[in-house]
Amino acid sequence: MSVDKHADSVGQATLAVTGGRVPGDYLGFVNPPVYHGSTILFPSAQAYRRQDAPYTYGRSGGPTHTALETAVAALEGGYRTRLAPSGKAAVFLGLLGFLKSGDHLLVADTVYRPTRMIADTLLARIGVETTYFDPRLGTQITALMRPNTAVVFAESPGSQTFEVMDMPAISAAAHDHGALVMFDNTWASPLYFKPFEHGVDISIQAGTKYIGGHSDLMLGTVTTTRDCWQRLDEAFLGTGTSVGPDDVYLAQRGLRTIEVRLARQMQSGIAIARWLENRPEIDQVLHPALESHRDHALWQRDFLGASSLFSIVLKPVGEPAVDAFLDTLKLFGMGDSWGGYESLVVPFNPRRYRSATTWEAPGPALRFHIGLETLEDLQDDLARGFAAMAAA
Ligand SMILES: *Cc1c(COP(=O)(O)O)cnc(C)c1O
Repeated sequence: MSVDKHADSVGQATLAVTGGRVPGDYLGFVNPPVYHGSTILFPSAQAYRRQDAPYTYGRSGGPTHTALETAVAALEGGYRTRLAPSGKAAVFLGLLGFLKSGDHLLVADTVYRPTRMIADTLLARIGVETTYFDPRLGTQITALMRPNTAVVFAESPGSQTFEVMDMPAISAAAHDHGALVMFDNTWASPLYFKPFEHGVDISIQAGTKYIGGHSDLMLGTVTTTRDCWQRLDEAFLGTGTSVGPDDVYLAQRGLRTIEVRLARQMQSGIAIARWLENRPEIDQVLHPALESHRDHALWQRDFLGASSLFSIVLKPVGEPAVDAFLDTLKLFGMGDSWGGYESLVVPFNPRRYRSATTWEAPGPALRFHIGLETLEDLQDDLARGFAAMAAA
């Protein structure tokens, strides 16, 4: 067996390295084999009738899946984990597992935008009503709870504008009213936020991001408490959601190095954020680990670290100048997703899709993901970008 049962007594890096690994089962090979398969053969008629083998059909995964699920559950501090073909599919599985027609859902106004899309289309169609709430409302969430509120969906910090939520307060209020708490843990990853220690019942990650870590796969994870497991597993088995073993293998390989990647990315991310904070072009930097961030104290209280995704608000400047900045950057790629080894930047404007809060900013906003490049090279690249912005 692996060391998972001692999860409380070993460090995060040890958990990431050892979680779900059972070399003795694989002739000593350090990594689990990639088991491709639909049919799984039974040794006898009696065994087939019993259906109690560890694996009975390829759809619900094989040993490669178990390796990753076990490691993620240990890092999250939850009971068990199921995999989904993307982070968005994981959000959907989680919601589907715990909502039914006539239920009321509370969703933080700052959630990942495709999560809103699930609530506004599919869930609306099956008769689930959604209310969006200000992520900074804390205990005042009580006023929004209805007798039929089944789930509170949180994401902290919001992955564009980085509001930090008071999860212990929100979880306590939700539980007082009989609602479950679902949490998108993609930003911090379970290394830097332990959802189940803050009242969360169901934790979701886009494994596409820091778990995979190399921008080469799509994957989602859903981890629950023991009490919530049955319902989640029902949604998983009921939808027939299945992830191919090659992507699962890549994700578990990525996970082995997540601790060192994140430590370096946190360090470089904070360094770049501080450097940006001193640039004359910047109105504000939205990074919870900076003392200037409005929710810094809350982040410090509940988080164990910061990932390398943050945003900036520029002073008023025209779009051509912003485009000159973006198009000059060589080390910062422009594209969606994040969590890989490489740096990224994208412009964004949340004003269009907020409903419970408003987005007031003097200038355009940019979101950065800091990768593993040499710090000084990233700063030089940004300095060249700012020079182009000034010239435009
Ligand atoms: C990317 C992301 C997702 C969705 O993950 P995909 O694998 O891209 O579907 C969900 N939540 C957050 C916060 C994300 O950043």
